[in-house]
Formats: sequence, structure tokens, C-alpha cells
Amino acid sequence: MSAPSRGTAPILSRCQDLFDDLDFKSARAWKAAAPDRRVVAYMPIYVPRELIHAAGMLPLGILGGGENLEVIHGDAYYQSYICRIPRSTLELGITGRLDFVDGFLFPSICDVIRNLSGIWKLLFPKVYVRYFDVPQNFVDAVGGEYYVQEIRELREGLERLGGRPIDDEALRASIALYNQNRRLLRELYALRAKTPWLAPTSEVYLVARAGMVLPVEEHNQLIADYMAAAREEQRPPKDNCRVVLNGVFCEQPPLNLVKAIEMAGCYVVDDDFMLVGRWLTDDVPAEGDPVRNLAAAFLHRSIETSAKYQPSLALKGQYIIDSLRDSGAEGVIFAAPSFCDPALLERPMLESRLDKVDVPHIGFKYAENSGQMQPVREQAGTFADSIKLWSTP
Ligand code: SF4
Repeated sequence: MSAPSRGTAPILSRCQDLFDDLDFKSARAWKAAAPDRRVVAYMPIYVPRELIHAAGMLPLGILGGGENLEVIHGDAYYQSYICRIPRSTLELGITGRLDFVDGFLFPSICDVIRNLSGIWKLLFPKVYVRYFDVPQNFVDAVGGEYYVQEIRELREGLERLGGRPIDDEALRASIALYNQNRRLLRELYALRAKTPWLAPTSEVYLVARAGMVLPVEEHNQLIADYMAAAREEQRPPKDNCRVVLNGVFCEQPPLNLVKAIEMAGCYVVDDDFMLVGRWLTDDVPAEGDPVRNLAAAFLHRSIETSAKYQPSLALKGQYIIDSLRDSGAEGVIFAAPSFCDPALLERPMLESRLDKVDVPHIGFKYAENSGQMQPVREQAGTFADSIKLWSTP
């Protein structure tokens, strides 16, 4: 892949445009380029995008409406004491911003998303809607067999939607492309962990997020271009502390929240944003039965998160300790969407793990349209100062 010549600015400007675009113009343009093209949307946090790609369709990540979407209709479908992402996603649908979407996958993460899949079916009966369930039993003969069947059913649904079969060879080719995407994302995260002043999280986030709307081939090139440009930037390191950001895997915080944490003196060196691209921690074998390979990867080579059942009390929350060690972080900032059961129920268990090894942590809640960042900045700034003053040996 060729290196860019004009620094990170034009790459980030493109990513920002994609981030700001609530009409999904790039996905609309992709679809309009050929008459038989289909777009299949999905919600956080994991679906096997390889299947959609192998069907010749565009996987489109929908991460809510963000801070610039006024929710008017969406509020009528949900009570007020739940997170905002289902309401803003409904707003996107009802206002016609997703009228080009042919299919919509609602992955198993919580009751809110499951219920949204039912509402979507009622509101948009012409759209192929599937609640995509994943196993919480990680034994091959139990959860593995179940998941193989789930993937096969999704495959059949996409074949009906596209009017043509998805052959194994196409699926293997798609797996290889997404393997490359995952490798590049791992490299991007490693670059940030090693030199966060060259690849700050407010930028890494935008680069990763572009992968929610771009075809994977374009996203692979974009990540490679960004890393090449970032490595050449002349940016001096700051006297910041290093933190892990946890809990941001579904409804997204405003970008200004990430910037506020950075401006308060923290380098975010690991996070759980957009896990769909990093769910599988290793290459999926590109030979053999591709469906079984995808299922086995989910069971045995996938990221730990609150969305996965961990039966071992001893291992519960170990991933946050591993994340601290691997990224060299000194503390954890828990940020979770208000009313987010998966993130907020996990938090006390993670805090307890951290307390046992004397790792400092703070926590707060947000909504995708939170506007006031001064409290976040003050809290994160005090946290950074306390780490620098008292935690450094
Ligand atoms: S933000 Fe949390 S509660 Fe809301 S839909 Fe996502 S996982 Fe479920």
C-alpha cells in the first residue's frame, strides 16, 4: 500500500466528513453505482461482516444518531429511562435517512437491541431484519454447533435478499480481506499504545469509525495511509498519563468527550470502541469450511468484553488487567452510556479487580448527545494529576 504525501490532515478530514454525515451519502453512492447492489446495516457490537461482503453487499455500521440529531419521533417508541441509541436509530429510520438500507442486523447485546429488531420489523416490513444471536456457551459441541446454524441461517437470508448464492470461495476471500482489516486495526492500536502523541485517540477513533461506512477494501487503504502519515508527523510527546477507556462499545460518546479526556492530560492507550472490527483477535483461517472457521474464531479467538459470558470467577474481568499490561496504562476511565445494562453491570466487577491490584480508576456516564464537557475535563484532569503525583514510583 502506498504512503500518502500530505500528512494526516486530509485523511482525518475525510473521516470527519463520514462521521458527520447522517444521510450516509457514501453508502448511498456505493449502492447507486450498480443496479443490483444491496446495503445491510448492523448495530453494535458484533456481526460477521464477512458474510455480507461475500454476498456482494455493503455492511453499514449504525452507531446511533450522535450529538447532532434531534430525536423527535424516536422518543415515542421507548420509555425515557433507557439509553439513547435505540431512539436516535429509530429517528434515523423514521426520517428516511436509512431508506436505502435493504437489510438490518440487530446483534445480541441487550434487551434494548432485541426489542428494536421487533420494532424495526413492524415499521419497515420490506427490509430484511434479523436478530442475530450469538452463543454464550463456548463449548464447540454446544455453542459452536448453535452458532454454525445461526451463521447458516444468516447466509440463507442474505442469499434470498441478494437473489444469488454465497459460495464458499467468495466467503474465504472476504475472510481474507477482513483478516487484513483486523491486522491493520491491531497495528493502529499498537501504534497508538506505543506513541499516543503521534496517533491520539480522537484521530484513531475517526479512522476506525470510517470502517463502519466504507467498503473494507477502502478502509484497509485508509488505515494504512493514516499510519504512514502519522509516523511522519513531527509531534512531541506530552507529560500525559496513560489510561484505558472502558464501556464505550455500543452507544458512542460525543467526540468532544474523547477530546476532553485528552485535553485533561490523558493519553487513551486502549479502549473498547467499535468492537466489530476487533472482535476476533487473530486471523480466521482462509482455508477449509469458512462457516465453521468463523464460528470457531468466535468461540476461541475473540475479545473479552462485558457482552460475553465468563463462567470462571477467577477469570472474570481479567481482560482489563491484560489491557493495562499490554498498553502500559496507569489507570482506567470507565465511561458508559446512561442506563446501559451490559456496561454498568460489569463495572463493579472490573473495579473490584482493579482495586485488588491498586490500579486507580474513575467512572462517569454519558449520552451520545451530552453537551457539557467541563465536568468530564475536570474529573479526568484531577485523575491524571493524581496518577502523576501519587502513582508514579
Ligand atoms: S447502549 Fe447499552 S443498553 Fe443501550 S443498546 Fe447499547 S448495549 Fe444496550
